[in-house]
Amino acid sequence: MGAQQQVADAFVELYGAAPEGVWAAPGRVNLIGEHTDYNDGFVMPFALPHMAVAAVSRRDDGVLRLHSADIDAGVAELRLDELVPESDKNWTAYPAGVVWALREAGHPITGADVHLTSTVPSGAGLSSSAALEVVVALALNDLYELGLKRWQLARLCQRAENVYVGAPTGIMDQTASACCEEGHALFLDTRDLSQKQIPFDLAAEGMRLLVVDTQVKHAHSDGEYGKRRAGCEKGAALLGVDALRDVPYADLDAALERLGDEEEVRRLVRHIVTENARVEQVVALLEAGDTRAIGPVLIAGHASLRDDFRISAPELDLVVDTALASGAIGARMTGGGFGGSAIVLVEAGDVEAVTKAVEEAFAAAGFTAPRVFEAVPSAGARRLN
Ligand code: ADP
Ligand code: MG
Repeated sequence: MGAQQQVADAFVELYGAAPEGVWAAPGRVNLIGEHTDYNDGFVMPFALPHMAVAAVSRRDDGVLRLHSADIDAGVAELRLDELVPESDKNWTAYPAGVVWALREAGHPITGADVHLTSTVPSGAGLSSSAALEVVVALALNDLYELGLKRWQLARLCQRAENVYVGAPTGIMDQTASACCEEGHALFLDTRDLSQKQIPFDLAAEGMRLLVVDTQVKHAHSDGEYGKRRAGCEKGAALLGVDALRDVPYADLDAALERLGDEEEVRRLVRHIVTENARVEQVVALLEAGDTRAIGPVLIAGHASLRDDFRISAPELDLVVDTALASGAIGARMTGGGFGGSAIVLVEAGDVEAVTKAVEEAFAAAGFTAPRVFEAVPSAGARRLN
């Protein structure tokens, strides 16, 4: 593969010797199950063909050298015994956080040279950060023969992002990047990390899934994420459950009644409980081979995120409304919200018409032109050589 050789060659140029190996880890798109991951709920991501590729060698002198072909900042040199959580505001915090988390967990990492590059669009809600973390974690797991399982690597990467980088994220992104399989979506229970690969081969059924990256990120998104998270925790506390995951769909009306005039909490609870039910519905439909029937479930998921969870954005709503008006089977925003990407399920023959309609609608609204690409469910993290 071209990318693999290029990364290995660049490594030689930078560090003066061939890397011990080259690894890859993909970005992801979440098919359904949004904001459920910090409520112990269900998610259903699949891996993108877009991925981070890293060439890595061990060192034994306590030094970590990091370089990204995509960032104009040269080689960063860090000392392992000086890694401190939340001390690094640069991209290097992601790979350094992984090394920190591994060492914190007692794994004897003595240093590494890393050169990487990524085709996962950054900040588009497609998890470029998890791809960086997972590719480094898998490389070190192999090189240092740590014997950690994929789900354990995902947990360590989450810890790197939560504690070292200082970004409060759930477990979905890292698990998707580490565990997804080609031609499948990953049904993941974020409470116990049990998982099931669900066949999701759209091309075989004459459909396509488009990702529309709106290229916008509204500035207040981080604070809003924290508010939603706190609101969900408040809802669980008021209902006397560990997490909103514990409210069965059949008990939703009673739960909403109990929340009385806590209007905002009621809306958050309604989204999480119905969203978990939608994930289970999509799993059942895909397992029954009734793929087109997931369209209305995706549409309902978008309405719930827009109206109840209130994390959509004009750009995301425009993608969904335009796509549906021009014949899409289903569409929804995906990822954290307030910008980022939407997904659109279309018949193969409608790809061009739907893409054109969305692009024209963005131009007419005066929005930045979106980036539209096809998402083929791809393989999770792996060693390339
Ligand atoms: P997302 O994960 O949705 O893409 P995040 O804000 O979580 O957005 O992560 C984006 C950050 O990840 C970037 O700001 C950068 O620090 C880092 N990053 C992503 N891709 C690369 C890359 N190719 N090289 C270096 N850093 C990267
Ligand atoms: Mg991220």
